[in-house]
Amino acid sequence: MAANVMEIYGKYVFNEHVMKERLPSATYKSLKATLEKGQPLDIEVANVVASVMKRWAMEMGATHYTHWFQPLTGITSEKHDGFVSPMKDGTAIMEFNGKELVKGEPDASSFPNGGLRATCEARGYTAWDPTSYAFVKDGVLCIPTAFCSYNGEALDKKTPLLRSMSALSTQACRILKLFGKEVDHVSTTVGAEQEYFLVRKEDYETRQDLILTGRTLFGAMPAKGQELEEHYFGTLRPIVSEYMEDLDNQLWELGIPAKTKHNEVAPCQHELAPIFDTTNIAVDHNLLTMEMMKKVAEKHGLVCLLAEKPFEGVNGSGKHNNWSMTANGVNLLDPGDTPMENLQFLIFLAAVIKAVDQYQDLLRAAVASPGNDHRLGANEAPPAIISMFVGDDLAAVLDAISNDAEYADPGRQRIDLGVDVLPKFKKDNTDRNRTSPFAFTGNKFEFRMPGSSMNLADANTVLNTAVAKELKGYADELERADDFEKALVALVKRTLHDHKRIIFNGNGYSDEWEVEAEKRGLFNLKTTVDAAPAMTSEKNIALFEEMGVLSRVEVMSRYEVIIEHYAKVLHIEAMTMLEMANKQLIPAATAYMSDVASAAAAKMAVSEKLSCKAENKVLEKLSAATDAMSDAVDALDAAVESAESETDSLEKAKAYRDKVLPAMADLRTNADAAEVVCGEDYWPLPSYSKMLYYV
Ligand code: ADP
Ligand code: MG
Repeated sequence: MAANVMEIYGKYVFNEHVMKERLPSATYKSLKATLEKGQPLDIEVANVVASVMKRWAMEMGATHYTHWFQPLTGITSEKHDGFVSPMKDGTAIMEFNGKELVKGEPDASSFPNGGLRATCEARGYTAWDPTSYAFVKDGVLCIPTAFCSYNGEALDKKTPLLRSMSALSTQACRILKLFGKEVDHVSTTVGAEQEYFLVRKEDYETRQDLILTGRTLFGAMPAKGQELEEHYFGTLRPIVSEYMEDLDNQLWELGIPAKTKHNEVAPCQHELAPIFDTTNIAVDHNLLTMEMMKKVAEKHGLVCLLAEKPFEGVNGSGKHNNWSMTANGVNLLDPGDTPMENLQFLIFLAAVIKAVDQYQDLLRAAVASPGNDHRLGANEAPPAIISMFVGDDLAAVLDAISNDAEYADPGRQRIDLGVDVLPKFKKDNTDRNRTSPFAFTGNKFEFRMPGSSMNLADANTVLNTAVAKELKGYADELERADDFEKALVALVKRTLHDHKRIIFNGNGYSDEWEVEAEKRGLFNLKTTVDAAPAMTSEKNIALFEEMGVLSRVEVMSRYEVIIEHYAKVLHIEAMTMLEMANKQLIPAATAYMSDVASAAAAKMAVSEKLSCKAENKVLEKLSAATDAMSDAVDALDAAVESAESETDSLEKAKAYRDKVLPAMADLRTNADAAEVVCGEDYWPLPSYSKMLYYV
């Protein structure tokens, strides 16, 4: 039954509506000042908020609270504390005070910290991010928080994100001031399109690879892949449709504005997109969305796969990060209607172009993960090279500006900077190129490289920080200028001239682009092991330090975590393959061969005239594939051992990439060859066809 959306929307959220209704008006006013202007929260105010929040949460069925945070693992963490407080007389009361609301002290020692622990205490603390509403989930009041070490070093993904938003706000306000606009805050906005796969639970449960690694490590190609392209926007299977409806309802109850849902390109691949929001809220919501996607699937006998590449040979999943900047509700990447608005648009656009060109390596590193390595450049997702698509219309304008030429659009409208008005860039004009990793789509940029399982905080932290840095440079220059408009036009021209190499409107999937990109001097960091070290270059550390987003120590610790994580993930994948091959696949092939051989022997015993040609062929093929599988097992075993013997973390990661990954691929090829010949009743894993084409 379709729920009444208006009734359920935000039901479990301690949102502004609830605050206004329940908080004393003075408390509400101070909290609102904190929310809007980032003013510190007074403890007296926090006490009142906590008490009201507790009462509300209990009405929603909560018995516990948790500081909900985002450690470097990429997922969210929570430690539940009961409100319950026993009294001397044997009864109990429910307690929750302002101190507990604003600060928590989880033991930080079991979270990845990339060596930060060596320099500080193991203890950490969480601090409330009041700009992201608290909510009740599964009987627990969840308080969105940032997570730091006792020395104040960020141990999570939210802290640098908030710092980057604040850096961008400061610099963007300076620019707006030059346009005569007194704005005290500029926000960045994000709309995260989330792709995912749904498979049947009974299939999932028989596959150790899916259970342990989230992706299939074996599986011959099905007779039918995605070549007919019939799944994209196709009719939803009833079981999927019910799932999506249930998911929407759960998300709406949590105040997550889920808006669009449809089938994606690959069979059993789908997408959900919410309406955009301020970045930290959008990121929190995306993390919650992923959690709910998994939870709701179970109720429907399904499992939601968020890995970037769950199936070889069909498209992987990404998370498109739609991004813009907004001041008092006005989108700063909207070209506007007047010459002055155009100029303002151009300066912000130029800052983004320069930022993406200067920090392409960092942006690439921010989306690096072993899972995403299977996707980027795999002829389905944007390549590992960062470039920007601006569409033909805007490209022509930018060209004209940078070359000091006159611009005439097809409608012969003349562009003379600061005098005439730029044409509006229609969405259907700008959204056509799906092969670009960073596309301008009319009034926002769409960063298409993030992987489906990632926390978008990293990508947005880099984006915000890099844009903040360029805006700072612009503001420094323009504040000193005698003739603002002239200086502004010159600056836009210079930026476009110096950074035009990053703009590419062609086919990002083509081989020619790789060659051309190299000529242009663009980075092509193909794997996590290539990309992550970029974080530690002096240019990039300087960026983070100058903008107050991450210290050198924090950057180094994050780099360590990524590199170590890479080796760990590949280790788990390799070990899973070895176990499956040894315990399931080779025994299955052997059992089938034994039965086929017995059948052939039985036939021969009846009459020597009976042909055993088919049995012989099967035995020959399967025996060869099984032998090869067995050799590949030994080779993979040796590769893992050799990688594990590396002590330096980068060398270890490289060994996994260069030795273990190819050995895994080889084992898979041989196992898949065996699967094709082996009897279906014998092969222990559900086939790709069975998993992808359920009804
Ligand atoms: P598609 O890219 O699939 O054609 P849309 O362009 O309509 O879809 O929207 C994609 C996402 O971009 C949605 O989540 C939408 O809310 C978001 N979006 C729209 N405007 C902005 C903006 N100014 N800032 C950030 N995200 C935005
Ligand atoms: Mg899109």
